[in-house]
Amino acid sequence: MTDRTVYVVGAGVSGLSAAVRLAGRGVRVVVLESAAQAGGRCRSYHDAQLDMVIDNGNHLILSGNHATMGYLAAVGAADQLVGPATAEFDFCDVRDGRRWRLRANPGPVPWWMFAKDRRTPGASALDHLGLAALAAPQGSRSLGEAIRSSGPLWERLLEPVMLAALNTDPREASAALAAAVVRETIALGGRAYAPRIAANGLAAAFVDPALAFVRSRGGEVRLGARVESLDTEHERVGRLQVGGEPIEVGTNDGVILATPPGVTTALVPGTPAPRAFRAIVNGHFKVDAPAGAPRMVGVIGGVAQWLFAFDGRISVTVSGADALADRPREEIAASFWSDIGKVYGLSGAPPAWRIVKERRATFAATPAESKRRPGARTSMRNLALAGDWTDTGLPATIEGAVRSGHKAARIVAP
Ligand SMILES: Cc1cc2nc3c(=O)[nH]c(=O)nc-3n(C[C@H](O)[C@H](O)[C@H](O)COP(=O)(O)OP(=O)(O)OC[C@H]3O[C@@H](n4cnc5c(N)ncnc54)[C@H](O)[C@@H]3O)c2cc1C
Repeated sequence: MTDRTVYVVGAGVSGLSAAVRLAGRGVRVVVLESAAQAGGRCRSYHDAQLDMVIDNGNHLILSGNHATMGYLAAVGAADQLVGPATAEFDFCDVRDGRRWRLRANPGPVPWWMFAKDRRTPGASALDHLGLAALAAPQGSRSLGEAIRSSGPLWERLLEPVMLAALNTDPREASAALAAAVVRETIALGGRAYAPRIAANGLAAAFVDPALAFVRSRGGEVRLGARVESLDTEHERVGRLQVGGEPIEVGTNDGVILATPPGVTTALVPGTPAPRAFRAIVNGHFKVDAPAGAPRMVGVIGGVAQWLFAFDGRISVTVSGADALADRPREEIAASFWSDIGKVYGLSGAPPAWRIVKERRATFAATPAESKRRPGARTSMRNLALAGDWTDTGLPATIEGAVRSGHKAARIVAP
C-alpha cells in the first residue's frame, strides 16, 4: 500500500469507480458519503409497499460501454448484467398494436439495415444509413438541427433511443452528445449496443461489490459522512470538515469530489456547472410478465417509454419526464398500467405499484448546458472532480460516471 490516502467524497458510481481504481492500485482510499447508503442515483432499496427490493430507476447499459464493463469485471460483478449477444430491441406501438424487433448484425457493416424484417418498419435502408451522418463532429447544434426529426425512423427509433440516452427532448438535445453515443455504439456494430440490465438490481451490480472490493483492500467507507467544507491552503486542500470534525489531508494525499453539481459548486465556489436538469419517472408493478415475453420493450405512442420485465415485477421508465412528474402518482400509475396491459396482454385492476419520481435525474443534455460542464482538474493541486455531469464528452450515464472516476483517480494519484 502507498503512503498516500485519497479521500473520495460521494459514493455514487463516479466516486465508487475512482475508489475501485485507486484501491486496485494499492492506494489507501477513504470514501465519505453523506447518505445512509451508497449508490447515489444508481441505488436499490426495499420498498415496503411492494415488499421487494427495487431500483430507484431502471438502468440500461450497452455492451459497448467498455469502462462500465471493466469496472464490473474489476469488482467481480460482470455476471450481474444480462441481455442478448447482439443488439435486439423489441418495440410495440400501443396505438395500433403493431410490434417489431430491431435486430442488428454483430459486425460493423450494418447489413441488417437492408433486411426489411430487421429494421424499423416504414423506414428505408437509406433512412437508416443516414444515421452514419450523426457520427460526424456536430459543433454546438441541437439534434433537431442536425437530422430530420420527423417520419418513421425518428418516431420509432431515434426519438425513443436518444431520449433514453440523453434524458432530454432529442430535438433540443446536443447533437455532439448524440454523436458520441452513436460513435461508441451503433457505428461499431451490433456487438457494441446489445442491451444489458442488472437482473438482480443495481446495488448487486454497481454498488455492493465495489464497497466490498474497496474494503478488502484496506479502504474505508463512511456512510452518513457529509463533507461540509474544504479548507484550502497554498493551492491545495488541507482539511475536510465532516460533521463538525476536521480530517487533515496530508501533503501526499488527494481529494476527489464526486458530488452532484450543486454540492460541488458550494464546496468549490466558481466551479462551472450545468444549471438545468431533467426528470425521470419510473413505475414498478408487482406482477410477472407472461412467460417468454421480451425482457425489455420500447413503447411507441403511449405514456410509458420503456418496459422492463424482472422476476415478479414489471417496471416502466419515462425520460425527459418533467411534465409527467407534475401529475399525481395515481394518474401516472393508471397510464402506465394501461400501456403494460397493451404490451403484455394483461388486464384487470393494477397490482401493487410504486411510482418513483427523480426530478433532477440528470443535467439537461442541451448544447447550452453542455458548455457548463467543468473538466476534472481544478486550480488546487490535490483536488479533482468526478461525476456524470463533468465534461466526459458523454451524456449523464453510468459509462460517463465510471470514466469520470477513472480520470479523477489519474489526476490525484498519477
Ligand atoms: C431514474 C434514473 C434512471 C437512469 N437511467 C440510466 C440508464 O438507463 N443508463 C445510464 O447509463 N444511466 C442512467 N442514469 C444516470 C446514472 O444513474 C448516473 O449517471 C450515475 O448514477 C451518476 O453517478 P455520479 O456518481 O456521477 O452521481 P451521484 O449518483 O449523484 O452521486 C453523488 C453522491 O454524492 C453524495 N453526496 C452529495 N453531497 C455530499 C457531501 N456533501 N458529502 C458526501 N457525499 C455527498 C450523494 O449522496 C451521492 O451518493 C439514470 C439516473 C436516474 C436518476
